[in-house]
This record gives sequence, structure tokens and C-alpha cells, in this order.
Amino acid sequence: MVLILKRNLPAIHLGDPDAANKIPSPPGTSIESETLVNMLRFRLTAAVLAVAPFFVQTVAAHAQDGDKVDLAALTQIKNEALQHSQVMENLFYISEVYGPRVNNSRNHRAAAEWAMQQMKTWGLQNVHLEKWGPFGDGWQIKKYYGALESPAYAALIGFPLAWTPGTNGPVTAEAVLAPLHSEADFAQYKGKLKGKIVLIFDPRELSLHTEADAHRLTDEEVEARTKTPDPSHLGFGGGGRPGAAAPRPGEYTPMTLSTAAPTGRVLRNQVNAFLKDEGVAVALTPGYNGDGGTIFASYGGSQDPKDPVGPPMAAITPEQYNRICRLLQHGITPRLTFDIDTEYQKDDLMGFNVVGEIPGTTKADEVVMLGGHFDSWQGGTGATDNGTGSAVAMEAVRVLASLHKPMARTVRVALWGGEEEGLYGSLAYVQQHFAPRDTMKKTPEYDKLDVYFNDDSGSGKFRAVSALGNSELAAIFQSWIAPIKDLGLETVVGLTAGPTAQPGGTDSTSFSWIGLDGIGFMQDPLEYGSRTHHSNMDLFDRVQKGDVMQGAFVEAWFAYNAATRADQLPRIETPAPTAK
Ligand SMILES: [Zn+2]
Repeated sequence: MVLILKRNLPAIHLGDPDAANKIPSPPGTSIESETLVNMLRFRLTAAVLAVAPFFVQTVAAHAQDGDKVDLAALTQIKNEALQHSQVMENLFYISEVYGPRVNNSRNHRAAAEWAMQQMKTWGLQNVHLEKWGPFGDGWQIKKYYGALESPAYAALIGFPLAWTPGTNGPVTAEAVLAPLHSEADFAQYKGKLKGKIVLIFDPRELSLHTEADAHRLTDEEVEARTKTPDPSHLGFGGGGRPGAAAPRPGEYTPMTLSTAAPTGRVLRNQVNAFLKDEGVAVALTPGYNGDGGTIFASYGGSQDPKDPVGPPMAAITPEQYNRICRLLQHGITPRLTFDIDTEYQKDDLMGFNVVGEIPGTTKADEVVMLGGHFDSWQGGTGATDNGTGSAVAMEAVRVLASLHKPMARTVRVALWGGEEEGLYGSLAYVQQHFAPRDTMKKTPEYDKLDVYFNDDSGSGKFRAVSALGNSELAAIFQSWIAPIKDLGLETVVGLTAGPTAQPGGTDSTSFSWIGLDGIGFMQDPLEYGSRTHHSNMDLFDRVQKGDVMQGAFVEAWFAYNAATRADQLPRIETPAPTAK
């Protein structure tokens, strides 16, 4: 009977005074049947009371399964986020006015001032820059010109690599192909590269694009990602799979020279010291991905003032890079011109995060956080990485602030710095505010941090939310998702997941690494991997308006639920200290 009760009756929640009266009368009943109904009702109540303990348990279990959400608030949040959205306006300033935002650069600092001003305009409190570090130099491009002069003229599409110097005016010189696969290759080029424009990698194989660059996950694909096919290889809670990211020691490729992994820095320092010693005029790479005018590239030098500064370096489109290689392979020596100017910011080497909040009411010392990294690479304007994540987080708090709805817990937005170089800003924040990973010595704030929501996978709409392997969390998120499925957020992933062995990939892992709920969303990939992620096409027009509007709405809704529910969210396991 309970089952029947359970199936046919509207959801009844513990403490709902009206529970007993919510017994619908069968449709089209007569007077006699009225008596019958009353008799049934009487028996039923008796039956309910008889199995009350079991019933309470079931209802309790049911309540544990999810929250009763505030649908009136949902409507308000939805209206503000979807009818009065300012997310694209935020993104316009973050990317088109202040982009790119290489960490600690002049642009990054100016963007932070703008963001703080906006937050204050929206009524956020305690808006400030939170310093960490030292990080090192800031850096940005001031000028880039590249051209093939002979045997025929062509403008070379490209951009300077991060933390490399300028050419001090235009430089015209012969091109040389000198692929460096490892330190062992230095010897064969010693004394042959002075004043040359050097192509330091092999030409890249390019393939025909037979598939669309952009992709939206099908429902089947979303469903497939909720599965845990091989429990012996549990998806990590997020972050870097142990040992996965590190490049093979000593191998030089466009990718290994761009990676933020520590060994990437070692390789860059080796190459830069060699090329500098050889007096190379400019070094060129074809980027580690992309074609058709799109170039994926980032690092060239180092933000650390102690590291060797190499020659000017630029990434150009692989089609044009391969052309220069073919000319050389045909015994034709092309002449190239580059005029590059870059700016190092050395006034303040400290990194910073931008922080602001909507103070809570009854539980103001408990904090719900949301955010994304604010820094970007230099090729485009950092629109989808991570202008969208920053604009979405800012828009979510604007929406909540504009509603003036009391929320028990404080809602805090954070725009992290130094993410591209190694999650530096969020790692510094969690270890300063909550617990250093090695000792896991918790601060008083540790137990007050409820949850952190992150967005850092491009422009795509949110299709699923991660539960970090916590079933209670999964059930609660399911109940938040239920009334908004029409907008494309359909399910929970990471129902089964292991701990975050090491932070990596994005800032939510800084939280889950120390045992806090750092929550990420599975987004439609769109053209993040194929067009914009760390490329010169990371630009405003690649952002899909409807997708980021949905993202901002979802973050506002999730933050609202977390900030107003009676209890803090269930927490993932606290890791053991690593310090011996
Ligand atoms: Zn990113």
C-alpha cells in the first residue's frame, strides 16, 4: 500500500501539516461512494499510523534524496537571468575592452579594476583584490607584424609567445629550419643560427576537416557520461590524473613547450638559453594545434624573472610555417620580417584574485562560492577561456543581488588569477583560507565553506553537474535540476568518483584537493577544443549568447539553493595530510 501511496499521492514531505488531507478522492464518485471514500480514508489513516515508523523512515529517506526547492524564487531568478541578462555585456568588457588578460599584465589589472567597479555597482560587499604569490612578471603584446618578403610577399598570421621579448623595431633576415627535438640537437646547429629567423620544429601534418568544428552533446552522450564503465579506473574527482599531464622528459614538441607542467618550464629554459646564446633573431613555431588561420599556442618564456629570457618568438599558422619549410627544402632561402613589441610588467610581482560577496543573513559566516579564472592566454581576447566563466559568475551574483532576496549564507564570487600557469590563484586561496594540503590543518573557515561552483569549459551550456562521487550530493542536485531540465541541464555525473589526487585542469580541483566540494559542470564542447581554447580565435563572436545566459542562470539557481537550504551540502571525504 505504501508503494501505491507513494506512487499516486503528490510528494509528501516530513513536517507537512497537510499530509493527511492530501488524499485525492477517486474521480466521478457519488454520495454512496462518498461514504465509501470516508471509510477508505479512515482505514487508510489507520493503516498509515500502523506503518508510521516505516513511513517516516521512507519519507526521511525520500527527503534525503533531494530538496524541496523554492519555485517562486526560481521564477524570479529565471526572469532576471533570461529576460534582463547582462552576461554578454560583461563579456564584452572582459574580452573586447580588456582582453587578453595574461596573468599580472596591465590588461589583467585593468580588467580587475573594472570587475570590482561593476560588483560595487551591483551592491556587492567586501569587494577587493586578494594578493598571493609572488607570481612573477606580467606580460602582454604591444605589437605584432610578420611577413614573408621573398620569394613572394605574404602577411604571416601569428602572435608572439608569452613572456618573450620584442625585436626592437623591424628585423628582416633569412629563415633557417632547425628542428629541436631535444637538447641533443643543439650541437648540430651551434654557430649556424646567429641573426637568423629560426623554425625550431618540424613542419606539421595537416588533415582535411570532414567533421564540424562545433559539437553539442547528444542526450545519449550525456547519458553515457553518467556511467562508470570500469570501477577499477574511477574517474578522478577532477583535476590531474596522477602523472598523466607530464610530458616525456626532454622531448621538445610545440605542446611540451606550451604546457604549464613543471617540466615544460625546464624545457623552455633550455631552449631559450640555447637560442639566446646562438644570437637567434626570431624563433618560430607552428603552434601545437589548429590550422586554417587558427593557431593554438601560449608559453614561450617564463614569468619568473630568474629564468633565462630567450629571443623574440612567435607562432604562425601551420600552412605558412610549412610553406617556409618547403621553400627551404627546395633550396630556396626565404627572407622574413618581424616587428614585435611586448611589455613586461615588473612593478608588482604579486598575483591577485578578485573577490566580492552578497552577505548572508542568519548564517552569514557560512559561505557559498562561485567563480572561474580571470586570466587568459594572449592569442585572442580570452573570450571563451575564461571570459565566459568569469562573465557567467559575475552575472550570477548580479542576478542574485538584483533580487534582494535574503539568503542565509553569504554568496562569494571569485575571479582567480594564475590559473593558466598552474591554478596558482585558487590554490593559494584555498590553502590560505581553509587548509594547507600538506598538514590539512583546518582553519575556522574550513567548516564554513559550503560549496564552490566553477565554470571553465568554454562557452557551452551546462549539461550536467558533477557530484564528486557523493550520492547524497547527487540526489540534492537532481532535485535542483528537476524544474529546469527544459534549459538543457539534465543530469548528474561523477556519481562514482575517486578523490582528487592532485589539482589540475581547473580551479574546482583546488577545492576538492583539500576535501571541499569543488563542483564543475559538464558543458557542451561547442568549438572549445577545435577552435578557441588557447588560440588566436578565442574571440567574442565564438561565444554563444544563449549558452552563457543558461550558464549564468544555472549558477545563480545553484548558489541560491545552497545559500538558502537548511543544512550545508554533504561534503566529500577529507584527505589525510601528506606531510610526514
Ligand atoms: Zn581555462
